[in-house]
Amino acid sequence: MSNKPRYWAVIPAAGVGARMGADRPKQYLPLAGKTVIEHSIAALVALDSIASITLALAPADPYWPELKISGPIRVVDGGRERADSVLNALRSLQGEADADDWVLVHDAARPCVRHSALLALLAQLAEHPVGGILAHPLADTLKQSDARQQVEATLDRSRIWAAQTPQLFRFGLLLNALEQALQQGLAVTDEASAIEQAGLKAALVDGPADNIKITRPEDLPLAEFILAKHLNEE
Ligand code: C5P
Repeated sequence: MSNKPRYWAVIPAAGVGARMGADRPKQYLPLAGKTVIEHSIAALVALDSIASITLALAPADPYWPELKISGPIRVVDGGRERADSVLNALRSLQGEADADDWVLVHDAARPCVRHSALLALLAQLAEHPVGGILAHPLADTLKQSDARQQVEATLDRSRIWAAQTPQLFRFGLLLNALEQALQQGLAVTDEASAIEQAGLKAALVDGPADNIKITRPEDLPLAEFILAKHLNEE
């Protein structure tokens, strides 16, 4: 590695958020005086080390132009699935980002990520050859269901973690892993699953469980509570 690796951020924000049942995609719903996506972007802007933030938006997204957001932001079109959106953003960085640079992928729908968790992710992975993800060990007993929604098995939870974002990987490895996985038609619900399918090992960095993803209507008041708690702790 000749130069110090740089950090590039990508925010997939092209989803419709159907499970919210709202009149607009969940990333544009109001939360604590801003929209959900503004909190997510602000968390990354607060990291001095980020060279740029590439947002993948739905083509002709009418909500984004209404927001006034400052920061080193670029916009690309999103794709059919989250992984297609991330891949479009990575392709737009080709030629500029080096293979050993870092890319930090963060869901627009995770507005509660703490600054300290971001710093821990960057610090713990600084010398890692591949990268890793924020995640937390699950506390609940886990049940596997059969086709009739009856308990089929109880899983060993001691090695089960819930994946969060940001997910931080070497640019070249992630780009190749996503290209390959999508070409092969594999299911890719996060970056770490593409890395895993490429035969690489992603590190798990223990992060706070309050880095929730806004998915259902009840998540918004919960996120508001979490953000207020973070403010009080500062
Ligand atoms: O729907 P889900 O909660 O899994 O979406 C996670 C993130 O991926 C959201 O920020 C959403 O906007 C984004 N996404 C995307 N392109 C898609 C689908 C989802 O950028 N086609």
